[in-house]
Amino acid sequence: MADFFIGGEWVDAVGGGRREIRCPADGSLVATVAEGTAADTEAAIAAARRAFDTGPWPGTPAHLRGDLLLRTADLLDRDAEAFARAESLDTGKRLVESRYDMADIAACLRYFGKLAAQDAGRVVDTGSPDAFSRIVHEPVGVCGLITPWNYPLLQTVWKIAPALAAGNTFVLKPSELTPHTSILFLKLLTEAGLPAGAGNLVLGAGAEVGAPLSAHPDVDLVSFTGGLATGRVIAASAAATVKKVALELGGKNPNVVFADADFETAVDYALTAVFLHSGQVCSAGARLIVQREWHDEFVAELVRRAERIRLGGPFDERAETGPLISEAHRAKIEAYVAAALAEGAVLRTGGKRPDDPALQDGFYYLPTILDQVKQGSSAVVDESFGPVLTVETFTDEDDAVRIANDTHYGLAGAVFTNDASRAQRVAGRLRHGTVWINDFHPYLPQAEWGGYKQSGFGRELGPTGLGEYTEIKHIYQNLRPAPQHWFAG
Ligand code: NAD
Repeated sequence: MADFFIGGEWVDAVGGGRREIRCPADGSLVATVAEGTAADTEAAIAAARRAFDTGPWPGTPAHLRGDLLLRTADLLDRDAEAFARAESLDTGKRLVESRYDMADIAACLRYFGKLAAQDAGRVVDTGSPDAFSRIVHEPVGVCGLITPWNYPLLQTVWKIAPALAAGNTFVLKPSELTPHTSILFLKLLTEAGLPAGAGNLVLGAGAEVGAPLSAHPDVDLVSFTGGLATGRVIAASAAATVKKVALELGGKNPNVVFADADFETAVDYALTAVFLHSGQVCSAGARLIVQREWHDEFVAELVRRAERIRLGGPFDERAETGPLISEAHRAKIEAYVAAALAEGAVLRTGGKRPDDPALQDGFYYLPTILDQVKQGSSAVVDESFGPVLTVETFTDEDDAVRIANDTHYGLAGAVFTNDASRAQRVAGRLRHGTVWINDFHPYLPQAEWGGYKQSGFGRELGPTGLGEYTEIKHIYQNLRPAPQHWFAG
């Protein structure tokens, strides 16, 4: 099967490599796909470069570029079930969650489809009737897009939609673990009318197939979503050619619960905050910071409910959350929990694989709660990216803010309180790119998403998400040119 899309053709890896994709829920073989090398990426970059320099896409009127995204959204609605099944087989996540993802992705395509036509630049007042000046937005060029496995198509479309809306061409390198919805999506873009070479796809390991996207001089922008360590490598590599770089990295996201919140609601959200998709969410509320007087009762209730969470595969309708993405990822979480316990954390529940014989072939791990973690310990500092909640306590508002900001990450956080002015005060003081009040996880295509501090830089979604993919040009015209005689001779 030819799985790479380069210059409008479906082709095989130059070296003929293949990779097995296995469903994390039971280890079964989903399919084999082409596995590339740097040579494949270089071919894709050349195709994207040609399409940008000589193809029709960058010069296509913005409203027609937007129309293509709107058509793609309609096609995704048509094929949503096939996409959702493919996403669930690759990730192991429940089918119902993949269906939500597909609806969100269609909404994102529609948002940028409509925004494209509105982005007309602006006229600047020169202060003179003899000069005309305007600001125009132009595409950046060839964009290298590198994405992770937790929300495979969602993270991908957060990049593709604004990149195409702004008139760029792209090379996409999705996670090697979850390639199928990217393959299907490139087919939809072609059906919607994307010209050859404007969208290109390569698959394979990051250090081999992804690396040229940050190093190659013909790539103008690299947008990366993934882990902090990889983000540092990509930013350093992109520096040599002074590429534009956008990084959406990890988080260690505080969920601050005041003792004046609604108890049932706060417990309920604290569970979803961290255990949704088994914690494999960049904005997971993995750090519970609860007011001291509520600690015992709150944690006891969390433990009671965490122990009732039903694990299962994508098509198990009773399941409430699924497996981890791989054996290697589960091993990382096991090591993370072992290190936390060695540092003095108290295990309140979980901390092991489930005993259920039906789950032994998948990469499952029980919802885990670690109490009495110490500030500065690795459990508090590092992202586990799994179903692991750490619990800390605070005394008053200042203490809560100090603890919640004591992290080198800054992606998202939440505050639960029934005091509206406290809610706004605390939200204003949290150094995180998204803050929820009495809620957790919602995001909107029209609202910017991104991190403070080492959670990255640049923003996705919203008008700024489109702006990331544009160059800003000032055009100034002298309407009455005549010699200036600045120099006398
Ligand atoms: P990862 O960094 O291991 O991989 C992400 C992507 O980068 C993959 O496609 C991988 O193949 C590629 N890659 C790896 N090394 C590379 C290199 N040297 N050059 C180019 N590409 C390379 O991350 P992951 O394990 O796939 O995803 C989990 C991480 O993603 C978590 O830290 C999570 O918080 C983060 N994440 C962040 C957001 C956000 O919006 N901020 C969203 C989702 C996930």
